[in-house]
Amino acid sequence: MELDPTPFNLDNLLRDLGVILATNLTHKPVALRFEVGDEVPRYLFGDTMRLQQVLINLGGNAVKFTERGNVVICISQNNNSAEKSALLFSVQDSGIGIAEENQSKIFSGFTQAEASTTRRFGGTGLGLAISRKLVELMGGTLQLESQLGAGSRFYFTLEFTLLNAQQIEQLNQAPQAQTQAAAQRLH
Ligand code: ADP
Repeated sequence: MELDPTPFNLDNLLRDLGVILATNLTHKPVALRFEVGDEVPRYLFGDTMRLQQVLINLGGNAVKFTERGNVVICISQNNNSAEKSALLFSVQDSGIGIAEENQSKIFSGFTQAEASTTRRFGGTGLGLAISRKLVELMGGTLQLESQLGAGSRFYFTLEFTLLNAQQIEQLNQAPQAQTQAAAQRLH
């Protein structure tokens, strides 16, 4: 597996994530919240598809294993320089939680916290193994804090290169340019 970094807008990524996760939230009293620090830069260079895949996996699990309460996706800045920013991503839920003795097992692949989980919730037991690999590939470590019955928090820190003014302008023009090109082809 190799990374495929491109310029991206973090707000767009989160908007799409919200749409995807909300489809599984219609039938239960669970609120999905995004908390993104004002200090977090929005224009970044990184593997947006892989980052999105990890957040969909973690957010999807958080929604799946929470019957009521909240799923909160937080992003804050840990560290920064003129060209780079280290961002802390966390996906927190008020769901069933994971017993301590199962916490390391669930990252190994094809493993679920309880034998009964497959029947109750479905799933393959692969999402976390893949997410952990992807976070490592992007230079971070996927970590977990959880208590049985008291919810879970999965988190990781990744460093991104910031876009310069010209790259930001190009990114902002890209969708418009594509639409214009498509319109011209139609004429
Ligand atoms: P899947 O969700 O397909 O079973 P995952 O690898 O994503 O596979 O998760 C493995 C197991 O870890 C799940 O079956 C569940 O037991 C546990 N788990 C993952 N995320 C959560 C969560 N947010 N709350 C409670 N348990 C979780």
